[in-house]
Amino acid sequence: MSLRPRATIHLSNIVDNWRRLNAHSGPGGAGAVVKADAYGHGVGPVSKALSNAGCQAFFVAYGFEGAQVRHAVGEGPDIFVFNGLGAISAEEIKESDLIPVLNSLADISDWVGLRSEAPFALHIDTGMNRLGVRTEAIDRAVELLGDHAPVLLMTHYACADDPASPASRQQMTAFKAAAATFPGVPLSVSNSAAQWLHADMRLGLSRPGIALYGGGNSPARPQDLLPGMSLEAPILQVQKLPRGEAVGYGACYKTDQPAVIATVALGYGDGFLRSLSNCGFGFLGDIRCPIVGRVSMDLTTIDVTAAYPLAKPGRWVEFIGSQADLELQANAAGTLGYELITGLGPRVERFYEY
Ligand SMILES: *Cc1c(COP(=O)(O)O)cnc(C)c1O
Repeated sequence: MSLRPRATIHLSNIVDNWRRLNAHSGPGGAGAVVKADAYGHGVGPVSKALSNAGCQAFFVAYGFEGAQVRHAVGEGPDIFVFNGLGAISAEEIKESDLIPVLNSLADISDWVGLRSEAPFALHIDTGMNRLGVRTEAIDRAVELLGDHAPVLLMTHYACADDPASPASRQQMTAFKAAAATFPGVPLSVSNSAAQWLHADMRLGLSRPGIALYGGGNSPARPQDLLPGMSLEAPILQVQKLPRGEAVGYGACYKTDQPAVIATVALGYGDGFLRSLSNCGFGFLGDIRCPIVGRVSMDLTTIDVTAAYPLAKPGRWVEFIGSQADLELQANAAGTLGYELITGLGPRVERFYEY
């Protein structure tokens, strides 16, 4: 056995979260956003598990990610590629039967120029100002498209994680007005955070990502979504230190009483954020152990005084999971769960639990 960090991917939890989101969505149901290697959980196994559970629509950012999904799920489910025609090749569209999302008038011109009979989606920008055709350019889009009709119209909320913000409702109103230009075309609006807004804000096919994996930073999110992964690191060494000893690079932590410090095999070389230095935490058994000193490339030190004598080399400490809440850990680092889970590197060994 090699003592290196491991992520156990709880496929059954991800499926349970999807079922819950699907039931909670409108009649359009829920697809699944599996870009960025299914938010670090492994695009192949996650897509396959969700497809087996009945998920019919997948969303990724790039053509090559779409090809990975197709390989995992086989024929049948729709696979949409968010990042426009620049992010997908004609071969990928054909060979993996992918649906590009057109994001601009330039995308539309290029698509029409290809004379493709393949399905495509259209992204309407209602205020995010990132991707999509602006609402005032819809008439021009219709003109360019001629008799090419999208199979899906989408927009994306900028502030869905703030239930008090009026922005989502304004975007919804603008989207409905623009969508009226394409009667009968299915709609898709809501990301994870929008799932927890008023029901009429969840129009059409929903596109949850982070909620599938048990995260999200909306204050309205239910607290009982199941964790998509458990990130654990093994203890390599345990030290009993007297009062006044410094720990790690820069000696930025000093024991203020005798303490037991465990060194675990996990660091920023694994994607565990250095900004968790002196403020993140792990769980040994069910005892919370604060990170003390700097997170370094391969190693992190935690104060296990309260968990002594559980602290032994080879024991596993949880840093994300059912006890170490993803969003609390990310919050300690000054970021979001998204960044923490998508940033975990290849040195973290993945195991799949079905
Ligand atoms: C990433 C993404 C989503 C999923 O967002 P979550 O916040 O993870 O639910 C949905 N729609 C678009 C356009 C995206 O880029």
